[in-house]
Amino acid sequence: MKNIVFIAPPAAGKGTQSKKICSFYKVPHISIGDLLRDISTDTEEGKYIAQQMKQGILVKDETIAHLLEERLQKEDCVNGYVLDGFPRNKEQAIIYDKMLSKLGKKVDIALYLEIEYEALKDRIAYRVSCPNCGHVFNTRIDTLKPKKEGLCDHCHHILTKRSDDNEDSFKKRWNTYQTETEPLIDFYKQKNILHPINSMQTADEIFKEILQILEEGAS
Ligand code: AMP
Repeated sequence: MKNIVFIAPPAAGKGTQSKKICSFYKVPHISIGDLLRDISTDTEEGKYIAQQMKQGILVKDETIAHLLEERLQKEDCVNGYVLDGFPRNKEQAIIYDKMLSKLGKKVDIALYLEIEYEALKDRIAYRVSCPNCGHVFNTRIDTLKPKKEGLCDHCHHILTKRSDDNEDSFKKRWNTYQTETEPLIDFYKQKNILHPINSMQTADEIFKEILQILEEGAS
């Protein structure tokens, strides 16, 4: 399977889309945010990570690179995987290029989810997710509402709100996105692998577009 990266502002749908790609191609979903959320806050490092996340600030590149390298070595990644939330800045993109080149691989496709700030603010306000299986819902958008209020459609666990899904944190995450992540648009444009996608569409419409891109790019 091709190596995909996402460039997407917070709540643009990268989690939803990467999970859809994973279930279509039957490969693991690697969410850096989820890996970080799983780290215990009993240690100093765990406390630092939780604090950074709460503030919408990126965690140190070395911490992320170490976490990712360890995850990619697991057996389930041999036939491919989808990365959700990495790289998030140019340094990480360079780290990832180096990691892949050691394996004789490269990033093949950069999916850029384009969406306006105002639309995202609304999504954040009504976003809920399942702490058990990670599925994301939106209580305001008909196509994304859970079938039973407050319960996950997939594992029936009680849905919760992420601690960084509030207006204050969102503004900071948006600023972080603009200063740190947006430069990746040019980085991948120069490599001729950038695919912008209008992400004001429904999740299914976006997925259809993504599949077309992945199938065109398939070798
Ligand atoms: P996400 O679940 O992708 O929205 O990420 C939630 C938070 O985790 C971000 O706001 C960052 O604090 C942290 N995070 C996720 N991915 C990365 C990354 N690649 N580099 C640094 N921090 C990250």
